[in-house]
Amino acid sequence: MTKVPDDVRLDLRERARYFAELTDVGVPRSALAAPVGAGSAPPLASVPAKPVRAPAAPVFTTEGVELRDLEAVRAWIGDCQRCKLAGGRKTIVFGQGSPQAALMFVGEAPGADEDEQGLAFVGRAGQLLTDIIEKGLKIPRKDVFIANAIKCRPPQNRNPEPDEILSCQPFLERQIELIKPKVLVGLGKFGGQWLLKTAAPISKIRGRVGDYKGIKVVPTYHPAFLLRNPSAKKEVWEDMKLVRGLLED
Ligand code: URA
Repeated sequence: MTKVPDDVRLDLRERARYFAELTDVGVPRSALAAPVGAGSAPPLASVPAKPVRAPAAPVFTTEGVELRDLEAVRAWIGDCQRCKLAGGRKTIVFGQGSPQAALMFVGEAPGADEDEQGLAFVGRAGQLLTDIIEKGLKIPRKDVFIANAIKCRPPQNRNPEPDEILSCQPFLERQIELIKPKVLVGLGKFGGQWLLKTAAPISKIRGRVGDYKGIKVVPTYHPAFLLRNPSAKKEVWEDMKLVRGLLED
């Protein structure tokens, strides 16, 4: 018989325990108040095991249609004409990476290369982002998820405008809800401000941990800024050490 590796066995055992602990409506019993006089519940696991991701809560479009996965979010976006960027874009850049990513990056907007290829961060800034992820964080890029605050390229790469950010917002919100990363990194002013719902400059919000709906947020400088200001790489390195620590927590 094939031998199941120990870590897989522990993981499966812990999953089985997790699901056995759920009530009929999917709430962990331990999350409910213990009845008065009830003795303390036996420990769930007597051996250390990997944490198990809780099953995803249902995610809906603004019209109330259930979104089961990222493909459904992409289908919901369709051939989007919801804002004025539709006329000038070549492709909608949905974002890409692992749907189970523990780490997710939120950038600003697609540039020319991204608009051409339909993929986020594939130009020069993207190459630097790959180095930050793979050489700095030592995580394969395919294991993280990378998206932007808006999904269409603004003309001449101008800054995204508030109405464009607002009309794209529900899609990124649903992507984050489905991926449920442990840590979100906001890249530059637009990524950082989108996640933290603030107008504070990136230089003020980077270097500490914020919160997006219960998910830890680390804002940092945008890779395109680093290409122009390589001396800021040391701050980004500090921020990535923060990310590493949060992922290992
Ligand atoms: N800059 C961004 O913010 N996003 C991209 O996808 C590419 C460049």
